[in-house]
Amino acid sequence: MAPTIAPIETSTDCPTSTTVVIIGGGIIGLTAALTLAERGVAVTVLEKGRIAGEQSSRNLGWIRKTNRHGEDVPLALASDRLWAAMAERTGCDVGYRQSGIMFLSRTPEQLAEHQAWLDSVSSLSLDSRILSAREIEAQVPGGQGHWAGALFTPSDGYAEPTLASSAIAQAAMTRGAVIIEHCAVRNITRSGGKVSGVVTERGEIRCDQVLLAGGMGSRRFLGNIGISLPTLPLVLSVFRTGAMNGPTDAAVGGPDFSFRKHKDGGFIVTQRGALDAPLTLDHLKIGAKYLSALRSQRGLLRISLGKHFWRDLMQSRHWKNGPSPFEQVRTIDPPINEGLNQEAYRNLSAAWPVFQNMTIEESWAGMIDITPDSNPVIDAVPNVPGLTLATGFSGHGFGTSPAAGQLAADLVMNNKPIIDPHPYRFGRF
Ligand SMILES: Cc1cc2nc3c(=O)[nH]c(=O)nc-3n(C[C@H](O)[C@H](O)[C@H](O)COP(=O)(O)OP(=O)(O)OC[C@H]3O[C@@H](n4cnc5c(N)ncnc54)[C@H](O)[C@@H]3O)c2cc1C
Repeated sequence: MAPTIAPIETSTDCPTSTTVVIIGGGIIGLTAALTLAERGVAVTVLEKGRIAGEQSSRNLGWIRKTNRHGEDVPLALASDRLWAAMAERTGCDVGYRQSGIMFLSRTPEQLAEHQAWLDSVSSLSLDSRILSAREIEAQVPGGQGHWAGALFTPSDGYAEPTLASSAIAQAAMTRGAVIIEHCAVRNITRSGGKVSGVVTERGEIRCDQVLLAGGMGSRRFLGNIGISLPTLPLVLSVFRTGAMNGPTDAAVGGPDFSFRKHKDGGFIVTQRGALDAPLTLDHLKIGAKYLSALRSQRGLLRISLGKHFWRDLMQSRHWKNGPSPFEQVRTIDPPINEGLNQEAYRNLSAAWPVFQNMTIEESWAGMIDITPDSNPVIDAVPNVPGLTLATGFSGHGFGTSPAAGQLAADLVMNNKPIIDPHPYRFGRF
């Protein structure tokens, strides 16, 4: 199960035409919809399940510049400004806190990697710095771990995914956006080669532009129309503790655990040193594109061939306008890896014994869409005029969602882009 998002009432009436259709009601589709609605553009968001039902409610909520590719940092900086204004923009508290984010290094080699990242972004004037073991203890007291140091960025932070998506969706609707849940998009229609609408399970909607923000669904959707978007799945398991007195308000990433304070007084915890990589047919088809990423993540991935392989294989890859795989799986809800959650529990309790008495209130897992270079695609599709992509956020798209959604809206409407979109071009693959 996913964490429950703050309830909102979406529309049940499908329009027959609009200017922009957004496929996918995750945080990216919703921020794009809010931007478009604020600009007076008629926009309809179509979501096959519930808004934010997949990655956008299941993520940890971290908002960071730290450890991003240098070319991805401008998007994060623009998002920081938008997050800071989000409560006023939406009229709701989205839980945004500039609490700081700290990445711990257990060994001098890990610290050298953090220093190398810091050097690589030195021209960007970030407030990131290296902390000594003594400074870590001062910021996060009561620790028993032996740390070579840490990389710390005071202006990083977090927001609450279960509040943010609802607030953004509600604000978009207040400004005229239409959001429809339980409405899978099966296909696009074209006229003279250009996008002219979408075929949904509830009929056709004419439109001038389509923005595909389908997360894990984007690759299959595009594959059906002969376009290859390289994304592969990874699964992260998470748990939330009951309310407790923790050691810090900062979000902390250790080599084999992470934690950050939750609005209800508990902590959101993961095993940061391991991710499940359930094999699919796509690994055979496009796995070679990931070889350099794999080399740097050796030991991180728990690769398995199991039920997910067969389920994925049974789902259609080609269909016309009839029922699509998106109606078969309304919400991707991967099994929780309780073993990894237990590892996180043990590793965290050993590092900060205050966590020994934590209780687990809920746990969940989420499936992440990873591109070969871990950057998203935010770009028009060259051979399909009227189709734009904002997808493949590779496990760090919540933090950058305000600027990413705005950038997508800029590209769709041919407005001046909020930042240089070059790092996100589709053609790089
Ligand atoms: C466990 C976990 C932890 C994470 N932690 C962080 C973090 O701390 N910080 C961070 O920045 N990021 C984090 N992420 C990543 C972040 O959640 C994602 O990058 C972000 O939510 C992506 O948003 P999205 O809108 O692209 O995708 P999604 O939220 O997956 O939304 C896509 C939506 O499209 C819908 N859809 C797909 N196909 C169709 C179709 N044909 N018709 C209609 N609807 C369709 C799906 O149902 C889905 O709701 C984490 C992710 C996970 C899973």
